[in-house]
Formats: sequence, C-alpha cells, structure tokens
Amino acid sequence: MKDSYGREITYLRISVTELCDLRCRYCMPEDGVCKKAHEEMLTLEETELAVKAAASLGIKKIRITGGEPLVKKNIVDICEKTAHTEGIKEVCVTTNGITLDKYAEPLKNAGVKRLNISLDTLDKDKYRYITRRGNLEDALKGIEAALNAGFDKIKLNAVLIGGFNDDEIPALAELTRKYPLDMRFIEMMPMYDSGDFKKEAFIPYTKVLEVLPELEKLPRDGSVAKLYKLPGAKGNIGLISPVSAHFCKECNRLRLTADGKIKPCLHSDAEYPIKGLDYDGMVKVFKEAILAKPEWHGVLSPEQRSRAGRNMNMIGG
Ligand code: SAM
Ligand code: SF4
Repeated sequence: MKDSYGREITYLRISVTELCDLRCRYCMPEDGVCKKAHEEMLTLEETELAVKAAASLGIKKIRITGGEPLVKKNIVDICEKTAHTEGIKEVCVTTNGITLDKYAEPLKNAGVKRLNISLDTLDKDKYRYITRRGNLEDALKGIEAALNAGFDKIKLNAVLIGGFNDDEIPALAELTRKYPLDMRFIEMMPMYDSGDFKKEAFIPYTKVLEVLPELEKLPRDGSVAKLYKLPGAKGNIGLISPVSAHFCKECNRLRLTADGKIKPCLHSDAEYPIKGLDYDGMVKVFKEAILAKPEWHGVLSPEQRSRAGRNMNMIGG
C-alpha cells in the first residue's frame, strides 16, 4: 500500500522485546528499562496476526529487532512463523551477536535470510565501555557462527562516534576484505534521553569517505545505505546518514514496538496501538498508520533531539 506521499510501504521492523543484555550508551540508560507488565506486551499470537495483517497490505520484508531479540525466549518460533507467513519474502534479524554462537544455526533453519550484527569497535576495553557490560570475544564468536551458518547476507553495523571509534574506521572496513560480509557505518542519532555525548561525538558519514579515499562507489541496492567497496574486498561498505542526509523520500518502512504500537516514523511520537485487536482491527490500524506517515522526520541534531519519545531499545532500530 502507498502512503500519502506515494511511497510504497513494504518493510516492517518488529521489536520483540525492549529488554537487552547490553546497555549501549547511545541506545539506552544504564539502569535498563523497567520491565513492563506481561499483559502490556504483544503475545506471540498477536505478533503473528500483526504480520498477517501487514502482509495483506503489501509488507514483504520483516526485520526482527529489539531491544535484543535473542533474549526473547521464543525468538526462533517467532522467526519461523514470520518466515512462513504468506506474502513475506524475507525475514532478517538485527542482533548484538553476543549469543549468536548458540542461535545462528536455529535462526537460519527457521528461515531467517539475513543478519545485521552490531559491532562498534574491535578493542575489548572500548567494547566493554560502549556496551557498559559486553565482552568483545562473545560478539566475535557470534559473528563467526553466523558466517559458518550460511546466511544470504551478513552486515556488521557500527555507530560512528567521534573520539571513540573514528580511528577504527580503516580496521572495521578491512573486515570486508577478510570476510564475506558488509560493514555499515551509521550516523549516531540523538535519541530521547540516551547518551551523554558531546556535540563532537556526532560525526557525519562523509568522515568515512575522508578516511578511506580508496573506496569505490557502487550503485544503490534498494536499501537506504550509500554503497562503496574497498578494492578487491569480498563485501561492501554501507554509509547510513539519518542525520546529515536523511533518506525519508525513500522510506518504505513502518515499525511495530514490543508493546504493540505501530510507529509510522522513527522520530515522531505518533503511535497506533494494535494490542488486543483482531485481524480486521489490525488491518484497519495498519492502514491508518501508513496514511499518517509524515513526509520527513524533521531536523535532527545534537541540539534538536529525536521526537520519538522513546529510546532506540524501546522502538526497534
Ligand atoms: N540489540 C540489537 C543490536 O544492537 O543490534 C538490535 C536493536 S538495536 C536498537 C538496533 C541498531 O540500532 C543497532 O545497530 C544499534 O547500534 C542502533 N542504534 C541504537 N541507538 C542508536 C542511535 N542513537 N543512533 C544510531 N544507531 C543506534
Ligand atoms: Fe541493546 Fe542493541 Fe541497544 Fe546495544 S544497541 S543496548 S545491544 S538494544
């Protein structure tokens, strides 16, 4: 179905939990989130119904995310049911990867085609600092397990943070020469109340082009990333610029939060609840949400933070 600006909406990101086993500084507060009552969250059956309702309106691609999707007990079941829903062509998962050594194969067998794994640094102390509790070794083990499981595509996501990992851009990019995976650099978004970053920490995607002048430009692949490649590399480099060069014109996505709110735009507080509705009710609300998708997300800067009203872990990145 098309929105009011003629964009065909084909992609739904479903956050299956707000909880996470890490506490990345740009994503959520140190004390985590207070666990909402079970009754407030979508059940597995409601999630299944929502996927069917969305598919009936032309959603073809689903990304399962969170919080950390792999802390959700029935995650493999959710992925399997989603992958087998009529009309859904592709199911992808975004994860911090720290338990992927256990989950890579079951997810692949459940029908997940693609994985995005977050990796902001290759330094174990910096990894512990940015995640406030994670071990780099676990994430690397997870990436290795994902590579062995044979997904169609694996992308590593690094949030660009000036003064933290801009010195690691070459080393992170170099992974695309060693392994058949893509490395994506994402501009840090100033969310609701997360992160205590100074203005200098927000660096534009063009920093990657400055640091890696040897990058060769590639045609776009339908995603929002600007694509490049290191000469002779196995994988691509993707640059994602929600702040300095927004891609709202090409935005084809909706988000569904773990507590059952459809968000037509990541940076708006407009939410459309579907918790407790039957199939027809959900289809109706999905239509309303698609038609309410704003033209763009408005100015985003360290001074003008996101108007999402939630942090990333509560939306689904
Ligand atoms: N826990 C999973 C993970 O870390 O991959 C999935 C959820 S996480 C919210 C999804 C993605 O959002 C991650 O790649 C993370 O780096 C990114 N993210 C979180 N907060 C962000 C922010 N303020 N700006 C840019 N990206 C952010
Ligand atoms: Fe957790 Fe992902 Fe947020 Fe990090 S980015 S705190 S891993 S939800």
